[in-house]
Amino acid sequence: LGGPEPGPQHRIRVCVRKRPLNPREAGLRDFDVVTVPCRGVVVVHEARQRLDLSRYLESQSFRFDHAFDDSAPNELVYRHTAQPLVESIFRGGMATCFAYGQTGSGKTHTMVGDLSAKGQGCPKGVYTLAAQDVFCWLQEPSYQQLELRVYGAFFEIYGGKVYDLLNWRNRLKVLEDGKQQIQVVGLQEEEVSCVEDVMRLIEMGNRCRTSGQTSANTHSSRSHAIFQIILRKRGKLHGKFSLIDLAGNERGADTGSADRRTRLEGAEINKSLLALKECIRALGRNKAHTPFRASKLTQVLRDSFIGENSCTCMIATISPGMRSCEHTLNTLRYANRVKEL
Ligand code: ADP
Ligand code: MG
Repeated sequence: LGGPEPGPQHRIRVCVRKRPLNPREAGLRDFDVVTVPCRGVVVVHEARQRLDLSRYLESQSFRFDHAFDDSAPNELVYRHTAQPLVESIFRGGMATCFAYGQTGSGKTHTMVGDLSAKGQGCPKGVYTLAAQDVFCWLQEPSYQQLELRVYGAFFEIYGGKVYDLLNWRNRLKVLEDGKQQIQVVGLQEEEVSCVEDVMRLIEMGNRCRTSGQTSANTHSSRSHAIFQIILRKRGKLHGKFSLIDLAGNERGADTGSADRRTRLEGAEINKSLLALKECIRALGRNKAHTPFRASKLTQVLRDSFIGENSCTCMIATISPGMRSCEHTLNTLRYANRVKEL
């Protein structure tokens, strides 16, 4: 089935998605400094000032497996990122897809879509599109005979602690047993039998994510949200797809903040994003040692970073504006490091 096993170099895909300049930015006279001149290439045209105060543009270009311009809809992004990984979980694989980027760059738009705008024309996110394909593959005769059942789980990591988004933000413990198996103890898994079931879970989890939080946006910018589609065969884990809306990467720089809590949260985010990069790189190199213990995020995803049948995809989201230039370059550099073999 499915041809030859992919080599390690094919186990990591790194793509970049640019969002459109929004009216607020246009109102502030910000302007678009990012172009996607050809397949897989992103160029940042940074305006700089000379000593004589005249301006010039300095261009930096990056190459990825795919680069999406601001006109690309979620479906197109999905088709080139998460979609190729969906079938692998039917073959017993562990897949992950991360949205990485600055707050406001489009991570949630990409992964969750727009849940508030019900009805036609509301963009579905990668979570829903992947679930749709899972139910399609389930009908495939060779997979049908496996008698697989599908479950959804949804949890959040905030300040290094794990909360169940399908169970009233119940605080969850992460335990490692003698055989190095990681367990998120008590994590709610809901059986789902159609894409509408999955959408209900996502909606429920999202409400849970921000309810009771003083500032919904600040909260989600500081937390990693992990949605999992789990296949079980007679109760036993068969395959799993983890789809992750990461904390805003600029939050990792909050380590210099005067506010102690913000500083600690920033340090935690910084640590988890660095650990994530190292774990993905280890996957590409088939390295014996994967430093998954370095953060809660990588610890709960341990299964997905080891094993022969793991593959991952990163969608680095970027804002187009001049004012976001530094953050955009940081995101592109990080994505570049993940890709490098
Ligand atoms: P993040 O989750 O990274 O903080 P969001 O996904 O919330 O960012 O996006 C910020 C805003 O920009 C939202 O209003 C969202 O609808 C809009 N947006 C993001 N990406 C796109 C896109 N590709 N096309 C149109 N609007 C987008
Ligand atoms: Mg978000």
